[in-house]
Amino acid sequence: MITRNRRIFILHAAGLCATLAIAGRSLAAPALVDDNDTTAKSLGYRSNASSVDASKFPKYAAGQRCANCRFFAGARSDATGTCPMFPGKVVAAEGWCNVYAMRA
Ligand code: SF4
Repeated sequence: MITRNRRIFILHAAGLCATLAIAGRSLAAPALVDDNDTTAKSLGYRSNASSVDASKFPKYAAGQRCANCRFFAGARSDATGTCPMFPGKVVAAEGWCNVYAMRA
């Protein structure tokens, strides 16, 4: 027979476990954009700017990279950062896409 106090303890423990599970999910790092992702292909995104096909994306110029793009949310020294072109994911600091706009 479970006492009232034990029942309350079990309910609190279950609630704590559920809270930790949800917190763990929200703390998981977002996925890195894959170069073969449909949106990535349409925007000419490459995780390494040096591999951009300049014949298809002539706007690209050497030195342009996500880390110095105005849409990159992260410090210039970060390896990855978020970008509104790819909600819920992160882009590589060394990446590039056709929406690139130099950070002021
Ligand atoms: S908009 Fe800028 S930060 Fe976003 S993927 Fe394109 S170049 Fe990178």
